[in-house]
Amino acid sequence: MKDDEVEPAYRIRSRMKTAVVRMKQGVALLASDTVAFEAFRLANQAMLNQMQQQDRIRRKASHREGYQWRPFQLAFLLVVLESTIRDDDDFREVLDLIWFPTGGGKTEAYLGLIVFLIAWRRLTCPNRGGGTVAVMRYTLRLLTSQQFVRATRIIFALELLRRKDPGRLGREPVSIGMWVGRASTPNTFQQAVDQIQGIRGGAAPPNGLVLESCPWCGATFDECNYQSSETGFHFVCTNPTCAFGGNGQAPLPCNVVDEALYAHPPSLLIGTIDKFARLAWESRAGRFFGRDSDNLTPTLVIQDELHLITGPLGSVAGLYEAALDTLLQMHGVRPKYIASTATIRMAKEQVRSLYGRELAVFPPPGLSCDDSYFARTDCRRPGRLYVGYLAPKLGSRQCLAPLAATTLFGPQVLFEDHVERNALLEAWWTQVVYHTSLRAVGESHTSYLTDVRDWARRLSNEKKDRDSSESVVHKPESTSEGQNGVASRAANPQIAQLTSRATAKDNAATFNQLERPFGTDECLDVVLATNMVSVGLDVSRLAVMLVNGQPLTTAEYIQTSSRVGRAEVPGLVLVNYHRHQARSLSHYESFRPFHESFFRFVAPTSVTPYTYQVRLRALHAALVIVIRQADTSLNGNAKAGEFKQGDPGVQVKIEALIQRCKRAEPTDKAGQTADHITQLVGQWSDEAAHCQAQKRALHYNPSDRSANALLCDHENPEAGLWPTLHSMRNVESTAVLKGA
Ligand SMILES: [Zn+2]
Repeated sequence: MKDDEVEPAYRIRSRMKTAVVRMKQGVALLASDTVAFEAFRLANQAMLNQMQQQDRIRRKASHREGYQWRPFQLAFLLVVLESTIRDDDDFREVLDLIWFPTGGGKTEAYLGLIVFLIAWRRLTCPNRGGGTVAVMRYTLRLLTSQQFVRATRIIFALELLRRKDPGRLGREPVSIGMWVGRASTPNTFQQAVDQIQGIRGGAAPPNGLVLESCPWCGATFDECNYQSSETGFHFVCTNPTCAFGGNGQAPLPCNVVDEALYAHPPSLLIGTIDKFARLAWESRAGRFFGRDSDNLTPTLVIQDELHLITGPLGSVAGLYEAALDTLLQMHGVRPKYIASTATIRMAKEQVRSLYGRELAVFPPPGLSCDDSYFARTDCRRPGRLYVGYLAPKLGSRQCLAPLAATTLFGPQVLFEDHVERNALLEAWWTQVVYHTSLRAVGESHTSYLTDVRDWARRLSNEKKDRDSSESVVHKPESTSEGQNGVASRAANPQIAQLTSRATAKDNAATFNQLERPFGTDECLDVVLATNMVSVGLDVSRLAVMLVNGQPLTTAEYIQTSSRVGRAEVPGLVLVNYHRHQARSLSHYESFRPFHESFFRFVAPTSVTPYTYQVRLRALHAALVIVIRQADTSLNGNAKAGEFKQGDPGVQVKIEALIQRCKRAEPTDKAGQTADHITQLVGQWSDEAAHCQAQKRALHYNPSDRSANALLCDHENPEAGLWPTLHSMRNVESTAVLKGA
């Protein structure tokens, strides 16, 4: 080892040692604490039961080698067990960051921890253990529907165990709820009623209700499975053989309508991060955090795909995070944070800005970057081949056609006489074409229907000519019907799109269709996609990708291209560089050095919640959330007018928020956020006093003009004191340019 390598090596080793020590503490906890052990046993039982149930409904035989955790999952659980249940553990304030390749089973690792925590809380406090225990957040709506169903099965499995032993595990069902934007699920009972009326009219079940079949037995839902009225909504299963079915009266322990979730906060709340902006607007949202009930407060917050919480979304999210954290602390809870990420570059700074916490990466990287003990680089696997392609004479609209046609046609020419022809065609058939914008997807679609088709025909004709001249010598009749079929498919490919413009339901259908192998009618030839595929697309049969235009960031390039070649078939990534795009040319010129070390080029994620611009956008919302949701004193819509600066209860909340922001604020900005909060408190107090003097009511969000408004929409900034976001999605406002 060289001299300058010794110190980093010691650092790496000491992190690994810490992980080992924590794992051993996890084992010791299970050995010494009978309640923790029982909770762990229940969590394992629930996990096993849902895996077996899953195989039963898929009519798959049980795993021959039995069901088991992956070493990484079990090790992760052992590392975090103690700090998840013990408030005073040294690692309680440390964010445990899972850094593991996609497909490694991160979701099951979180879910295992969640059911453990729910079981532990029920066992330690059967009377107060209900309500929301854990909050799990995603960034993409598409992911959430799929993840919701996955998580639902595990929660259902634990609920079945509870029903056998309500004396120890409490009378309240173990349940799960999905809290996302109105575009995905109904916010009110009335909206749910309207959606279900649509089904009665003969429409397919609306995707807003998320579940189309029973998560436990798989029975397909029709209108009878959605029980809805002006005052309630729940799912029922009518399958008499289902553990949750029968007479169709008993509600399934899951819900997706906001009003139902506020009425009965679910044990596990799954949401998208942007939804947390609703905490400022919705008086009832605070009920998830233990308000208005004797139940304990949630203690676990999980953030999936942390590296996506970046840029403007990440910065604004940082301030809402400060509010959420403060809210939980006001209930006497120091929440445990867990997150997962695809890149750990600058993660330390990101975690500090967002969560005001230190971080511990799991599994800690080893001395060799190819071996963290739990994950090793598999050098025997062929991996992925990257090919750069530049057509210097063709414009960006023309350059795709020759490449795409050759890629469509290539497998046929290469494998036509091969004994394993069909297997090889299946391996290389479906191509995913990545684009940097929606507009580019549209252009490619046109190109596939015109230029690509013409190119494919030309290739086909050339091949026919060649075959006929060769056939004189040794191939009397080589063209079978099947091959003609293949040739015509290359010229008339079956194309689908995966973009944010399609509904979540349509995209889910396309994801399913991508699983269909070559030779079936549904097999897709071409999928045109935006960066929607860079997370969440996990179809093992895909091996060919065309990257049409260099993605903006290296992280996205890596994420996207690693969607192909995930199984036995080596991946082939063809990057189509555009001659007029400077980024394209520079990547083309430095193709080899870039690809040989591209993880080094991943741009650090940047979040800056405490800059003036971001504070201006969201700091008041954080203040409102803490004041409004921590207890009932200023919760109701009309209570905004009772806000008083000097009120001791208000002072405590403000001080807690200031302290939390300090932990995340960069040292060179120290104190600026505190000053800003004090300023906002003054504005609110003045507005309340002013309204009182005018004998006007001040509401957070008045329904009509009879009261003044504290919060208002950004579109209508004059309507209230503070323009406030409804969702963190629309954080970037458009600039208005006026000509002189
Ligand atoms: Zn069922």
